[in-house]
Amino acid sequence: MFRLNFSHGSHADHAERVKIIRQIERDVGRPIGILLDLQGPKLRVGMMENGAVDLVAGATYRLDLSKEPGNQTRAPLPHPEIFAALRDGTDLLLDDGKIRLTVTACGPDFAETEIITGGKLSDRKGVNVPQVVLAVSPITEKDRKDLDYGLSLGVDWIGLSFVQLPDDVAEARKIIGRRAAIMSKLEKPAAIDRLDEIVALSDGIMVARGDLGVELPPEDVPSLQKLIIRASRAAGKPVVVATQMLESMISAPAPTRAEASDVATAVYDGADAVMLSAESAAGAYPRESVAMMNRIIERTEKDPNYRAIMEAVELDPESTSSDAITAAAAQVARTVRAAAIVTFTTSGSTSLRAARERPTVPILCLTESRETARRLAVAWGVHCVVTRDVQDFGDMVVKACAVALREEFAANGQRIVITAGVPFGTPGATNVLRIAWVGT
Ligand code: PEP
Repeated sequence: MFRLNFSHGSHADHAERVKIIRQIERDVGRPIGILLDLQGPKLRVGMMENGAVDLVAGATYRLDLSKEPGNQTRAPLPHPEIFAALRDGTDLLLDDGKIRLTVTACGPDFAETEIITGGKLSDRKGVNVPQVVLAVSPITEKDRKDLDYGLSLGVDWIGLSFVQLPDDVAEARKIIGRRAAIMSKLEKPAAIDRLDEIVALSDGIMVARGDLGVELPPEDVPSLQKLIIRASRAAGKPVVVATQMLESMISAPAPTRAEASDVATAVYDGADAVMLSAESAAGAYPRESVAMMNRIIERTEKDPNYRAIMEAVELDPESTSSDAITAAAAQVARTVRAAAIVTFTTSGSTSLRAARERPTVPILCLTESRETARRLAVAWGVHCVVTRDVQDFGDMVVKACAVALREEFAANGQRIVITAGVPFGTPGATNVLRIAWVGT
């Protein structure tokens, strides 16, 4: 999957990238997902006199709604919703957490603060307020325009930045509907308090460690990463681990040992996908970064310990025939040493349920829907093939075997495990499991 980060670039830039990605999709003959990552309500200070000022620890500093450029004693903060949420003792983090201020007095249009950690404050630097829920919509006016434009380009996923509450996801869903899948980016501590509800309302989750590591101390990030991945996997929602994964490869051809270990840890934690940011967007070694990440993933998944870790996580199936059949498929595939699990799916939900089991064999997903195939690009172990729907049971077996053979997921004489819903073409109705021999 490709991420288009709408915090940067013009609509024309993004349209050009979508064109390139769709051309690559045609060239390689494989469905590719595109994630439009909305900027969201990014909060910033206003402009400063001469571009920047030095803030010194121990001094006092005022933030207010005045539009006058900032100086040594005060800076404009054009966000009344921040002042409304502040209390004495609340921390404000500026410039990705480099500067820390603590509120000593506040009102609806100002805050007096003490500078705890000083530094250079320049024009329009970002502001984080970790300890409070701000009354801001996750979709700004800019996001609405970006969303309209992105949907017209045919993006598959929408990344929702700074989700704080389940209602934020519900609000986005009202606008987006089913035109694209929603990936909630978890980067606010408040979202962690409502994790299961947010996961339930989202189609996928991103552990957005860049902002999460600003809002929370760095030592909290690893355990939260594990918590978020577990909650997502339990719900069968794809989960992406993002940011600073191979950071040093922005300017070096090889990663540090710690970075290689970080990518591997995300895989061991059970992530569906790992994401590069600046390494591939603006770094000097984009190809090397992607190739290196791929090598680390493949190597980690070959480790027998990886399998043991995946299987140690108990997942409760829902009491539906779909869940029972897909959970059983992983077990059956292992018992009969099948070469692959083949899922027939309309919405993609069956393939996601199969992926959540992290079976020992690949999942071949046959779907009529190109949109479903593209969305599933981010899901663990799922290989989608767009194909016309089958008409009857015999047709299902013939097609599953033919595609498994053609895509080199099974050889003649091997078994595959097939799941499907009868009557065919009904979303969410997986109710049959069949073991078939390829080529016999
Ligand atoms: C993040 O904060 O980790 C992230 C992925 O979001 P963005 O790149 O939009 O800051």
